[in-house]
Amino acid sequence: MSEEKSLNFLEEIIEADIASGKHTSILTRFPPEPNGYLHIGHSKSICLNFGLSARYGGKTNLRFDDTNPVTEDTEYVESIKEDIQWLGFQWADVFYASDYFEQLYGFAVQLIEKGLAYVDDSSPEQIAALKGTPTEPGKDSPFRNRGIEENLALFTAMRAGQYKDGEKVLRAKIDMASPNMHMRDPILYRIKHAHHHRTGDAWCIYPMYDFAHGQSDSIEKITHSICTLEFIPHRPLYEWCIDQLGIYPSRQYEFARLNLNYTVMSKRKLLQLVNEKHVDGWDDPRMPTISGLRRRGYTPASIRNFCDRIGVAKRDNLIDVGLLEFCIREDLNLTSKRAMAVLDPVKLIITNYEAGKVEELTSENYPDNAADTRVLPFGRELWIEQEDFMEVPAKKWFRLAPGMLVRLKSAYIVQCESFDKDDAGNVTAIYCTYIPESKSGQDSSGLTAKGTIHWVSAAHAIQAEVRLYERLFGVENPASEEGDFKSYINPDSLKVVTAYLEPSLANATAADRFQFIRKGYFCLDKMATPGYPVFNRTVTLKDAWGKIK
Ligand code: ATP
Ligand code: MG
Repeated sequence: MSEEKSLNFLEEIIEADIASGKHTSILTRFPPEPNGYLHIGHSKSICLNFGLSARYGGKTNLRFDDTNPVTEDTEYVESIKEDIQWLGFQWADVFYASDYFEQLYGFAVQLIEKGLAYVDDSSPEQIAALKGTPTEPGKDSPFRNRGIEENLALFTAMRAGQYKDGEKVLRAKIDMASPNMHMRDPILYRIKHAHHHRTGDAWCIYPMYDFAHGQSDSIEKITHSICTLEFIPHRPLYEWCIDQLGIYPSRQYEFARLNLNYTVMSKRKLLQLVNEKHVDGWDDPRMPTISGLRRRGYTPASIRNFCDRIGVAKRDNLIDVGLLEFCIREDLNLTSKRAMAVLDPVKLIITNYEAGKVEELTSENYPDNAADTRVLPFGRELWIEQEDFMEVPAKKWFRLAPGMLVRLKSAYIVQCESFDKDDAGNVTAIYCTYIPESKSGQDSSGLTAKGTIHWVSAAHAIQAEVRLYERLFGVENPASEEGDFKSYINPDSLKVVTAYLEPSLANATAADRFQFIRKGYFCLDKMATPGYPVFNRTVTLKDAWGKIK
């Protein structure tokens, strides 16, 4: 019998709403601002919103929260759509907050007509000075008691472009003494003479987040508007606007945002990394963006699984990136093809193997999949990893060292006879003899080698550029450290090596995922061309998380 996971608090709310008849179906929304690429934190919100509506037979809208003309761009709109679909979700409708500008303007006029909003001529500094503090009430603006007709005329003039940026704002008239700072006559509209990526120059006043978000939810009849904890103090304003306007009562619920260690997760900071060229674009495989993870070789299933495992919390926490790595290993272990690749090569010469002879050996199948069998050409000269040889073997060293036996994966047992070194002390060649009776699968040698190493035939190997990644930051929480977060960038986060790959990898496609035996999981990078393979290491095989568990 499968174990039922207990409900998270949002599922409990929704089930109660359905049970009480408050809702017969649910509608959620994912509301990104198109001012950057989506990151792994967004995928938490995506999985939650789309997951809830799928579970309860509802729908999810994609709504671009595009109320800030200066930072937004259609490039971001396109990338956001692509990332959501890649994650495996499909929205019911796609909307833009800017679709509602006329309606939102109408709502603002309604508030003015009800005596619940006023035009304030104060400067931002004056407004701030009268705002009070969390422990002291604010003071009324000298413009707070303007008449309704005057406010309507001024607001019309604001829209008509008669004032400069910052000259006037529209504010809600609520309570300058409210213990909630967000309720002290919040700004609803500001003047910004800026070109908008969708509405062009039609508007020079733009609604603030708090005036656009809840009303957009209401216009779409969103039943459960799920956002992150920092919006808790905004909730009374969200409800105030809906109540005063008498529109569809969408309700806001908050959960803890996903924070991951050794990275940063705000679009503003990620944009700095891109603009200042600390990384190779938004989809750099070291970035926590969805496009970066995709380029690195993460699968949609691994990300969804990660979001599921971390669950829905009501308190902020920092998740170990090891859990994300655990999830992709778990997926790739079952699905990836196996191959041999030597990342740090040294020559191995089999002195008793006939020069020019080539044997076509067969790889062992893994996972148990006959279609995954490869032909492995074998000859007198091979490449093996430098690190698989030790001049003076340490205790419990089961790989190559003078006199020692080792099995070459899917091939023969070899014994090390001697080696060459250059003037700098680097091992440049290793000489072995092989045991002809020890062929994998038909071994009659009676010998056992304690270690098995991978190899590729020097005459047949293909050369490739292989990119090995480490964490982008050297500290767990760069955003919370003193000074510029960029000063904590790990200078060794990218290592590029020239590797030798088994020839079957010449046919790799972008969709393929490989385990390079003993070296980790790899995929083809977008920079690869038919004559120039480039591979990214998605993740190593080392599983720190599994051990900690
Ligand atoms: P950032 O700080 O990265 O710019 P944001 O919250 O401003 O993020 P939006 O585009 O406004 O980005 O976010 C769209 C949705 O994704 C919002 O509902 C937001 O709450 C959610 N979201 C953003 N970051 C996270 C996160 N780290 N964890 C969970 N949800 C997130
Ligand atoms: Mg935002």
